[in-house]
Amino acid sequence: MLERLRNIFSSAPAEPWRPSDYRVEATEAGANVNYDCYCGCDAGFALDRSAADPAAESCCCGNRMLVGEHAGTRLGVALPGTPAFRIDVQQVPMPWGDSLEVALAVPQDAG
Ligand SMILES: [Zn+2]
Ligand SMILES: [Zn+2]
Repeated sequence: MLERLRNIFSSAPAEPWRPSDYRVEATEAGANVNYDCYCGCDAGFALDRSAADPAAESCCCGNRMLVGEHAGTRLGVALPGTPAFRIDVQQVPMPWGDSLEVALAVPQDAG
């Protein structure tokens, strides 16, 4: 896993695209976490705090997003072998006071 990530990072462009700013909005179930995707979508993930192992949400461009504890690891495990993805992980403050991992898998031929 780590070896695979290192390979992805070493062959990525010097400054790969990543979301500059996640918008977090409290919901009854948890939070909506959104970002402006490079494809033009307002993409995001609806976090339900009662869901133990939610599936990633996809954007039309192929990006996949997951929010929660160890989201980066869980997203990496769930990815298909192709295309190659790079995974951007950021710690984002949630409305209830904790920070959670926001993981975004970007197809390597994009951005
Ligand atoms: Zn899109
Ligand atoms: Zn997109």
